[in-house]
Amino acid sequence: MAKIALAIHGGCGVMPEDSMTQEEWEGARRDLAAALSAGYARLKAGDSAVDAVEAAVVVMEDSPHFNAGHGAALNENGLHELDASIMDGATLEAGAISASRAIRNPVKAARALMEDGRAVYMTGPAADRFAEVKGLQVEPQSYFTTPKRVGALEAMRRHAAAGTDGTENEKHGTVGAVALDAAGHLAAATSTGGYTNKPEGRVGDSPIIGAGTYARDGVCAVSGTGQGEFFIRHVLGHEVASRIAYLKQDIATAADGLINHDLAPHRIGAGLVAIDAQGVAVAPYNTPGMFRGWVTPEGHAFVATHDQIYEIEL
Ligand code: ASP
Repeated sequence: MAKIALAIHGGCGVMPEDSMTQEEWEGARRDLAAALSAGYARLKAGDSAVDAVEAAVVVMEDSPHFNAGHGAALNENGLHELDASIMDGATLEAGAISASRAIRNPVKAARALMEDGRAVYMTGPAADRFAEVKGLQVEPQSYFTTPKRVGALEAMRRHAAAGTDGTENEKHGTVGAVALDAAGHLAAATSTGGYTNKPEGRVGDSPIIGAGTYARDGVCAVSGTGQGEFFIRHVLGHEVASRIAYLKQDIATAADGLINHDLAPHRIGAGLVAIDAQGVAVAPYNTPGMFRGWVTPEGHAFVATHDQIYEIEL
């Protein structure tokens, strides 16, 4: 059978282990497993890598544990503005939406835009209208709000007033997936609420093709998490691909070099998941933890939040 593989992340904004209850950690791991399971089922059925990354991201957008869709971060005015993108490594087609205030599953709107083909990137109220026209579900702002995000906004406002720094979890998070399908194609998708207390209208790296999301067949697929401004400046996803394609680095060297060397001077939280054309997946991060999971080409599945890795049955 041709190789298939999948990797996901639920953001590198992971709090110290003792700051969440065991039930919350278990809930997050359960939802990571459900996301892996949804994406892997598509790959096993012979569906495309694009189908797989969309399916995995939708599960994490619907989960309250991650900063995307339901449970997304609040901006400085207490509003949710959501960004997402998807890229097909086979064709280099891509779709991205930003600053959506209503789309329940922003990754679905990104996919619909990719398939519509008239634009790669749509933003704000136009993106919300586009999603509605395509028959996608829209929600009131209250749908996206969770007590945890309200608390994080209050904490970040206190930090801003006192001139102190918030925890990684209070600050940000994102969800993303990368996949290799049975036809040898790669795809990536990313979805986020951005960072807590961000300025209204701020757009991060997640919807920017080449920065937070990138896929090119024969090379790699990448989805990033961390302070997006630096992913944009380093054109991070495309940079990982370039180092593999042109410097002939392996995926671990390329991805680790960017997260733990190139981004290090900026002192920001950062991580990514990436997969190469053989299905080798990597998930480097520089924060105390990163919500993540992967299924190897041999069919072994794992989820993790910190150092400890749990093998799971899908
Ligand atoms: N990259 C996201 C953004 O800057 C946030 C994150 O992943 O933590 O919008």
